[in-house]
Amino acid sequence: MTTVAETSTPPETHQFQAEIRQLLDIVIHSLYTDREIFVRELTSNASDALEKVRHEFLVKPDLPGAQDTLKIQISVDKDAKTFTIADNGIGMTRQELTDNLGTIARSGTKQFLTNAMAAAKSGDLHLIGQFGVGFYSAFMVAKKVVVETRSFASDAEGWVWESEGTGTYTVTPKAGLSRGTKITVHLKDDGKEGATEFAEEWRIKNIIQKFSNFVPFPVEVNDEKVNTVQAIWTRTKNDVTDAEYNEFYKFISNDHEDARYRLHFTSDAPIDIRALLFVPKDSMERFGMGRQDPGVDLYCRKVMIQKHPEHLLPEWMRFVKGLIDSDDLPLNISRETLQDSALIRKLSKVITGRFLKFLAEESQRDPIAFDDFHNTFGRFLKEGVVSDYANREELSKLLRFETSFTEPGKKTSLTEYVSRMKDGQKGIYYINGPSREAIEAGPYVEALRAREYEVIYNLEQIDDFVFDHMNEFDGKPLQSADKGDLDLPPLEAGEGEELSSADADALSGWMKSHYGDRIGSVRASKRLVNNPGLIVTEGHFTATMQRLMAAMKQSGPAETDGKSLTLEINTRHPLIRKINALRTTDEAFAGQLADQLADNAMLAAGLLLDPRAMVERLNKLLNKAAGV
Ligand code: ADP
Ligand code: MG
Repeated sequence: MTTVAETSTPPETHQFQAEIRQLLDIVIHSLYTDREIFVRELTSNASDALEKVRHEFLVKPDLPGAQDTLKIQISVDKDAKTFTIADNGIGMTRQELTDNLGTIARSGTKQFLTNAMAAAKSGDLHLIGQFGVGFYSAFMVAKKVVVETRSFASDAEGWVWESEGTGTYTVTPKAGLSRGTKITVHLKDDGKEGATEFAEEWRIKNIIQKFSNFVPFPVEVNDEKVNTVQAIWTRTKNDVTDAEYNEFYKFISNDHEDARYRLHFTSDAPIDIRALLFVPKDSMERFGMGRQDPGVDLYCRKVMIQKHPEHLLPEWMRFVKGLIDSDDLPLNISRETLQDSALIRKLSKVITGRFLKFLAEESQRDPIAFDDFHNTFGRFLKEGVVSDYANREELSKLLRFETSFTEPGKKTSLTEYVSRMKDGQKGIYYINGPSREAIEAGPYVEALRAREYEVIYNLEQIDDFVFDHMNEFDGKPLQSADKGDLDLPPLEAGEGEELSSADADALSGWMKSHYGDRIGSVRASKRLVNNPGLIVTEGHFTATMQRLMAAMKQSGPAETDGKSLTLEINTRHPLIRKINALRTTDEAFAGQLADQLADNAMLAAGLLLDPRAMVERLNKLLNKAAGV
């Protein structure tokens, strides 16, 4: 007789991807706190699987099984020391099994693991808990995990996935499985790592109580239903407690901390919307996790249409978690048509606008808390300024910067800057630099300081690109202080004798021919006060942008484009007057001084990319100064 051939098929053994092996190593050996989160992770995976199959049935109501009650069944067995969770959701094919439970597709995973391992070594488990480890969290408590699954596809076969979390897993076919996934966790039972508490019915009920009301499907523990499904976003704000909001946030985000901000709003016109949005305390992208996926789900009449759809909200809003529910959406909208739906665009516009307004209100209500938000999520806002033209203005009002008028470490807004502008001040001035100290010691701010103009200190390199995209704020041009065309009102004549304009022209001409292609032009400066010279840029790009572009160049030496650089000289400065005198009496020495002057100015601009020649010359000049 040919009975169940499948049971005699030998298991196929697979290696986990290297990253998963490392992840498992961390999960198994370092994570002992909060082990109960594995219950939430497996439950939310089951819930996701149910959402997916519900959507399939909505789109194709004729599929067999479309009338099933979708639910999650948990059972615990104290004697067998097992925890089992079953769902009649979408299930997995063989390919999906190995793709989903054997590899990590997410970009940035390597970096994440490096960080996670460092956190584990330093004992900072609190931090590591923030990286949701999903399915693999089962290995915190398991000596063996068995996954039995059959995909919803009508011709799908059943498969069993099994692993002890050490390097390999096996996959074996199995007949007779019904649609969905059943995961059996064989609990560790030895010594201090023992986890048999998770085979206690009261313990599991207790854990599930905390979040199961947010699971949109019935959850049963040993055949007893433990939750009443609630869509808290459909209740009025005053009826929902902080504790409920926080538990809900933790459920949808897998965060272990409360959210930083929460926005719960409803609107009936122009479209029906119920939205519940959260801003986490921390940004996952800060931990080097790579680019985050969007975190807002789309619902229609309390039923999830899609989890974390792309293109629902602008990309810069990907740090926001939550959901949007609209009665106006067709329930069976297909995921493909989602993104070109006019309704979705309208939803997106209303919600983004409301969220920006909310942030503006928060910045007024509690500026200190808002600064903290800005420190963590400011770069998303900046990304928005660059990529989301429709919301550029509102976003730019939320940006904060240090300036020459703020105390170190304190920040101000562009709106406040504008309110402080001097009579006759034409632009909003900024300069990029690695630190406040470096900027203030450099030559660029002195002309502005002499006129008592405020200067924004761009301490992040991307800031120049952001300002470049904005171009202006409140009708005032944004101008980098290292640009050649700063149109500043004249200052009263400063101290000291000045070269005649004929001498200044002759000196500039001599210097330009001495520099050749390294410097595009040389001219007498209207802005310098104390420094002998400075480099300004004539083209579109600031020095910082040029430096970044040079660094990103794929091949060849990192060079800046000399043609776009102008050396401005301070014709009142004794050194400049000395060079002018020397160029007729000791041209070689004048040349050395001119070269050093240009390199010093390049250094201050951050554009001296190869200092070797400069150091050699400096040594010669030192010898000369010391008379050796
Ligand atoms: P995430 O849920 O963030 O995608 P997990 O590690 O929790 O990451 O799960 C990995 C993947 O395994 C899921 O994306 C899903 O494709 C699959 N998976 C896990 N549990 C189930 C389940 N109960 N039913 C179907 N697929 C599942
Ligand atoms: Mg998951």
